[in-house]
Amino acid sequence: AAKAGGKGERRFFSPRMQDVISERLLLEEDINRGVAAQEFCVYFQAQFNSNNDLIGAEALVRWQHPIRGLLAPGAFIGVAEAAGIMSKIDRVVLLRSCEQMAIWAQTPIFKDITVSVNISPAQLYQQGFVEEVLKVVQETGANPTLLKLELTESMLVTDMHQAIERMRRFKEAGIRFAIDDFGTGYSSLQYLQQLPLDQLKIDQSFVRRLPEDNSSLAIIRAVIAMATSLGLEVIAEGLETKAQRDMLLANGCRLYQGYLYAKPQPADQVKTLCEIK
Ligand code: C2E
Ligand code: MG
Ligand code: MG
Ligand code: MG
Repeated sequence: AAKAGGKGERRFFSPRMQDVISERLLLEEDINRGVAAQEFCVYFQAQFNSNNDLIGAEALVRWQHPIRGLLAPGAFIGVAEAAGIMSKIDRVVLLRSCEQMAIWAQTPIFKDITVSVNISPAQLYQQGFVEEVLKVVQETGANPTLLKLELTESMLVTDMHQAIERMRRFKEAGIRFAIDDFGTGYSSLQYLQQLPLDQLKIDQSFVRRLPEDNSSLAIIRAVIAMATSLGLEVIAEGLETKAQRDMLLANGCRLYQGYLYAKPQPADQVKTLCEIK
């Protein structure tokens, strides 16, 4: 805090910073209003294997704002997390995702697909989190073995001991884990082998630089080698071109998620067929 002006006048923030703060407070209020008005919904981005079979979908939150239109998480996640209200949104996402899983379980072509849900840093360590998720799974009738929770490397290092303990309880219920944005953190093989994981997701920042960039390819190869040696699935995200798909396939990555296949869409628009050859 800065003491500006004279005569005992205390100005803690510059006018410009004051604007930023007011804007954040307004957004925070608007998020709370939006949650109460049920404006948050879930889109699903399909995931495919190298035979072009639909194998899963990632749940991605959207805010259907009455004035600003459809908003992606980048427009609100930062403020929601800082204000401690992201867990309210995550609760909506989990519930909608599990409800959708129960619907898909009744549809032959969708019945075996996994649904991946992003977990925010605060959630994993929240008191009662495991019980809350298991309750939603049970009440919706979703198949827990088709539910995948996406964590990031950075949220696991906060309290590795507690993270593992919680993950084990989820695993006992059949729920699986993926590490999102893999390659952007600091995971060592030794650290990874202590975690009850099922899948690594290669971050799109590396995929985007294919096929030209050799250092991205080197990182991707290392991630695939790590996944293989630990017996984990590996999926690439952010594929936009066939050349990227071909290069990933040539290096042993057989699961894909990206605009090349499908954009995130409302559940009833998720396609099971894709044309990529
Ligand atoms: P993420 O979990 O890594 O999700 C992938 C993001 O990449 C999504 O952005 C998706 O729309 C985008 N994407 C997928 N394929 C492509 C592609 O080919 N090209 C490009 N340019 N982008 C692609 P989105 O939906 O804006 O989500 C951004 C991030 O917000 C997510 O990254 C995730 O970290 C977070 N997020 C999304 N939904 C939730 C949620 O329900 N809860 C929490 N806690 N976080 C969420
Ligand atoms: Mg994700
Ligand atoms: Mg990601
Ligand atoms: Mg992410």
